[in-house]
Amino acid sequence: MRGPADFVSSRSKQVDASGIRKVFDLAAKLKDPINFSIGLPDFDVPDPVKAAAIAAIQNGQNRYTPTQGIEPLRQRLRKDLSAEWGRDAGEILITSGVSGGLLLAIMAVIDPGDEAVFLDPYFVMYKHLLTLSGGKPVMVDSYPDFRFRADRVERAITPRTKLLMLNSPCNPTGIVMTREEVQSAVELARKHNLLILSDEIYEPFLYDASDGRLPSPAPSYDNTLVLRGFSKSHAMTGWRVGYAAGPAAIIAEMTKLQQYTFVCSPSPFQHAALAAMDVPMKEPVAAYRRKRDLVCKLLSHKFELAFPQGAFYVFPMAPSGISAADFAAKAIEHNVLIIPGGVFSQRDTHFRVSYAVTDEKLQQGCDILCSLA
Ligand code: PMP
Repeated sequence: MRGPADFVSSRSKQVDASGIRKVFDLAAKLKDPINFSIGLPDFDVPDPVKAAAIAAIQNGQNRYTPTQGIEPLRQRLRKDLSAEWGRDAGEILITSGVSGGLLLAIMAVIDPGDEAVFLDPYFVMYKHLLTLSGGKPVMVDSYPDFRFRADRVERAITPRTKLLMLNSPCNPTGIVMTREEVQSAVELARKHNLLILSDEIYEPFLYDASDGRLPSPAPSYDNTLVLRGFSKSHAMTGWRVGYAAGPAAIIAEMTKLQQYTFVCSPSPFQHAALAAMDVPMKEPVAAYRRKRDLVCKLLSHKFELAFPQGAFYVFPMAPSGISAADFAAKAIEHNVLIIPGGVFSQRDTHFRVSYAVTDEKLQQGCDILCSLA
């Protein structure tokens, strides 16, 4: 006789959720923790964007949209991306968040045994989506400064490598690739005939770019699939709107797969996303730049850290002689939630701090972490 657990597929069993679950289990016992574990902005959706969502619902925009997304949003994104890249951005697919875009992209591209190369530390979902699709995640160690080194990456490329995945600004390190690093990634991709998947979800959170632009492979390499979205930029994580721009043949496959999975991104929130494109986010981004400076100043007294240029994360090294998991458990005992690096990495030596919190909490939490060190 089969028990309920016997119905679970081996595919699903390969995915291990234990890393983050442990932190949240410990956290559930705390009353008012200083929460450095959250991967989303601490501001709410801007009022005009909320108003646009409400208006869309009241105006009856409550049905399926076309699979590829509503036309005005796709057109606007194509226009803006084309201006940014200096070439036609091509077809746009509106996805159910960047997560939706990642799943569709990997399903559309990866055959069993195909390899995808990306830097370690990495956004957790990459590893699991590749495993689910039968592909092989190949991580390239980027410690201690988390920079993209073409020689290290090239050593990981084999005849089965199909995909080079980039994430800049990076979750969990906050590192932004320089123009030169992006160019070296493009040259590698060209030489080895790879598709680049560029996860640019944190693109608006860019603190040190002199021209305000994110160095992206898209302008110089046509075989680039860019994923961006509104979850982080406008704090709409629960609204599930992202987008993919890239080679027509791949966008067409992803659209076909979306038809049989997500169907479409939620209709009212696609209309809200269009409104969001006219809401300037300079102020919250400037506030986060100040928080970045503050958290680095406070933590660098006691921790080694690679100075981040984007997103809202910093990834310091745990004190020597203790694993990041043990350090995180200690921090949680003292009411500070951090995520141990082992969740994002083959190593468990660092920890992720999300500084999207009030300055007061930031100061308190950093004081506690420094005193523990
Ligand atoms: N990529 C990265 C690097 C992320 O950090 C996240 C969210 N934590 C996502 C993709 C997914 O974002 P969403 O699905 O909410 O758009």
